[in-house]
Amino acid sequence: MTVRTRFAPSPTGYLHIGGVRTALFCWLFARRHGGQFILRIDDTDQQRNVEEALAPILHGLHWLGIDWDEGPEVGGPYGPYYQSQRGDRYQAAVEKLLAAGAAYYDYATTEELQVEREAAEREKRVFLSSRRFMAETAVDRARFEAEGRKPAVRLKMPREGTLVIQDIIRGDVAVDWAREQDHVIQRADGSFLYHLANVVDDYDFKITHVIRAEEHLSNTPRQIFIAQSLGYDLPIYAHLPFVAEPGSKTKLSKRKLDKYLKNADFATLLKHGRKVADALGLTVDQNTFNPVVVDFYEQVGYLPEAITNYLALLGWALDDQTEHFSRAELIQHFSLERVNKAAASFDPKKLWSFQDRHMQRLTLEQKVERVVPYLQRAGIVEHCGAGETPAPQERAKIEHVIRAAGDRIKTSGDILDYVYFFVADDHLVYDEKAVAKSLQKLGAAELLAKYCGQLAVVESFEAQPLEQMTHAFVEAQGVKIGDIVHSLRAAVTGQSVGLGLFDSLAILGKASCLSRIERMLKQLESSNNKCPD
Ligand code: GLU
Repeated sequence: MTVRTRFAPSPTGYLHIGGVRTALFCWLFARRHGGQFILRIDDTDQQRNVEEALAPILHGLHWLGIDWDEGPEVGGPYGPYYQSQRGDRYQAAVEKLLAAGAAYYDYATTEELQVEREAAEREKRVFLSSRRFMAETAVDRARFEAEGRKPAVRLKMPREGTLVIQDIIRGDVAVDWAREQDHVIQRADGSFLYHLANVVDDYDFKITHVIRAEEHLSNTPRQIFIAQSLGYDLPIYAHLPFVAEPGSKTKLSKRKLDKYLKNADFATLLKHGRKVADALGLTVDQNTFNPVVVDFYEQVGYLPEAITNYLALLGWALDDQTEHFSRAELIQHFSLERVNKAAASFDPKKLWSFQDRHMQRLTLEQKVERVVPYLQRAGIVEHCGAGETPAPQERAKIEHVIRAAGDRIKTSGDILDYVYFFVADDHLVYDEKAVAKSLQKLGAAELLAKYCGQLAVVESFEAQPLEQMTHAFVEAQGVKIGDIVHSLRAAVTGQSVGLGLFDSLAILGKASCLSRIERMLKQLESSNNKCPD
C-alpha cells in the first residue's frame, strides 16, 4: 500500500500556525513512508476570490519546504483538486446514497425544523429530525412539491447501535448512533456540504490516512456512514491535538492578539518583528503580521527549518530529550504513534530558542545568503536581479558585520540593526540623543578632532591595533577611555550602542571613519556658531 495523505485547507487568505502544523504532520508521514502528499482545496463554501485567498497558503507551504505531489500548481492524475470543480462527482454520490436508502429528500422548512429543535431543547434530548417530511417515493415528492416545498438531501443516519472509530492517536472512540442527526449533504439550492465532498474526495484521491485537527473527530461518524453507504473502504484516521494558546488549553486563534500580548514572551516576539518591519518600511497589517500566522515569520527572517522543527514538536516527540532535528531527521523519525493526545501549547519562547539555535548553526556563507535579501529590500545593497550577489567588497563587509555581531543576529531581519555600516557616509542618520549625550559636551569635539588626526595615520586598520592606538591616545591626552569611545561611536555609527567599537571602525574602514568624523565635527561647529535664539 502506498501511503497517501492530504492537507485540505479552505482558502482563508492566511496560513495559521496550527493549520500548517497539520500540513507538516501529513507531509512528514507521507515522506517517512515514501508515499504521496496531496493538497486539496476545500472551497465548497467559497465567497471570495479563491486564487487570491489561496495564494498566501501556498506561499507559506512553499516557504516551509512542504511540497505536494498532487494539487494546485502541479496537477495530478486524480484532479481537479478544488472541491468547487468536483460537483459532478458529488452529485453522483448523492444519487447513489438516495438509491441505497442511505439518504432522503427532506421537505421540511427551516421554520418546521426550528420548532422540532426547540422542542428537543426543552425536553433536554438530542435533536433528531422527526422525518415527517421525508419523501421516499416519487408520489411523496410530488405531494410535497405541490405544496411549494423545496427539498434538501439528508443522510438517513442509523438511530441505534454504537460506532467505534479507530484512531491512531486517540485509540478506539465509541459513538452512539442515536446522538447523530440526519445531516444535510445537499442543500435545496443544489450546493453540496463539505462532509459529503470530503468523503468522496478522500476516496477518489485514494487517501490512505486522514490526518487532521481534532475538531473533525465529531464529524467522523457521519463521514464513516457516507463512506460505508457508498461501499468505500475506510481510511485510517489520526486526529491531531490542536495547537493551544500560550500557557492554556484553549485553541490558538489569530483574532486574540490583544489577549496574547499579555504574555511577555509573545509580546517580545511581536515587538522584535515590528522592529524588523519598521526597518523594512513595511506597513504592518494585524491580519498577517501576527505570530499566529506563518507569514509573520517569513517577513521577519526566521529560518523555515527552525519553524518546522518547532512545529514538529507541537504534539510530537521522539523521546523525552531530543529536540533539535534537521528536516531529514524529522522525516526519518516521525510516527503518528508518538503524537500526543493532549493539546500542545504554543510557546513563543521555545520557538525563539529554536530559531536562535538553527541560526547559530549556519555557516558564515549561509548567513550571508539569508541576510542579503533583507539588505536588498531595505534598499541597502543594490538589488540587481534574481541570482545576483553583492559585489565582493560589499560581501566582505557583510561577512565582517555578521562575524562581529555573532549571536546578536537572531533572525535574518536583524541585519537591519546594522544598516549604518552600509549607508553612504553622507547619508548616515544620527540618533540625536546619542550625539547630545556624548558629543555636545565641553571639549568633546576638540578631543575627537585630535583623535581623528591619529586615526588618519594608522596603518593597520584592524580592531586590535585600533584598540591599542586608542589606549595610547587617551593616556597621552590624560583623559579617560570613556571620554572618547562614546563620542567616537556616535560620530561613526550615529548610535549610542552597537557592536564592539573597534570592530565597528574596522568594518567601516579608514576612509569612512574619517569622513564620518569630519562630517560630525563640521556639524558641531556650525551648531556652536549659531546665534543663540
Ligand atoms: N477544510 C477542512 C479544514 O480546514 C479540512 C478537514 C479535513 O481535513 O477533513 O479544517
